Amino acid sequence: MGVIGDPIAHSLSPDMHNAAIDALGIDCCYVAWHVLPERVAEAVAGVRGLDILGLNVTIPHKLAVMEHVDRISEEALAVGAVNTIHNEDGELTGYNTDVFGVLMSLERVAGFVSLPAQCVVLGAGGAARAVTYALASRDEVERVTLLNRTTEKAEALALDMEKITGKSILPGGMEAAEQQSALVDAGLVVNTTSLGMHPQVEGSPLAEGIEIHPELVLYDTVYNPLRTTMMVQFESAGARAFGGLDMLVYQGARSFELWTGTFPPTDVMKQALIGRFS
Ligand code: NAP
Repeated sequence: MGVIGDPIAHSLSPDMHNAAIDALGIDCCYVAWHVLPERVAEAVAGVRGLDILGLNVTIPHKLAVMEHVDRISEEALAVGAVNTIHNEDGELTGYNTDVFGVLMSLERVAGFVSLPAQCVVLGAGGAARAVTYALASRDEVERVTLLNRTTEKAEALALDMEKITGKSILPGGMEAAEQQSALVDAGLVVNTTSLGMHPQVEGSPLAEGIEIHPELVLYDTVYNPLRTTMMVQFESAGARAFGGLDMLVYQGARSFELWTGTFPPTDVMKQALIGRFS
């Protein structure tokens, strides 16, 4: 198994998957393949030809691979992106395991037995699609407010997700007043913007002067650095905050389970990633 992307040299996936393979003593390996956009069809055909268990798919191929697999799972269709391909006797199915990744992180790491009725998602890119679908697909979530710098993108995504999930998805911009009114009665905010990501680590999507109530939980999908500026802002206000590393681990763990039938040791995978940051 392995991962395809362009670029791919800095992918963390081989570290965490090979750590799980070693821990379980399975006879296989996970490699990173640099695949150019014009070679995507051949790369996917190679999975069949070489009888590879499956692939992870990263930027920029998550959309392109969809036309080269035989089936697409419900959540990958809803998110509009495939990040995992599973090969069963030459029959390829495309999945999106980011949905599982964020929900498992919220349950296992942030400790949510049930998610808050009111949730806020910051951002409207690829990660926001997976996160908004994940949250809105849970029965207990009544409303998701989607705030983005480019308001038109939030509006388009909200419309799409309302149609798919039947939930109320309210779009808006990132101005302080919009953030404050969205956060005041929310129980969870998920940052899916790239603000705060290495190397611009001092960035935060939180507007100046926003009041954070202590029951509001932050899940920041940014994982490099492990502790973001936005997480520090929440913790300083007495609120709990979690970084995106666990989402990365759990989406990988779900892919691994699809390929091998075994759910891998996520603590081993997480340690392998932390090793890359230190
Ligand atoms: P993307 O599709 O490029 O979307 C980027 C988002 O960030 C857009 O909403 C964009 O707003 C916003 N943004 C960028 N620069 C901004 C700025 N200066 N001010 C305000 N908003 C800004 O990227 P993506 O794939 O969704 O990834 C976004 C983040 O999620 C990355 O940090 C990535 O590491 C993280 N992520 C984590 C995981 C995980 O497993 N933990 C998985 C996927 C992604 P506009 O629309 O206005 O440009």
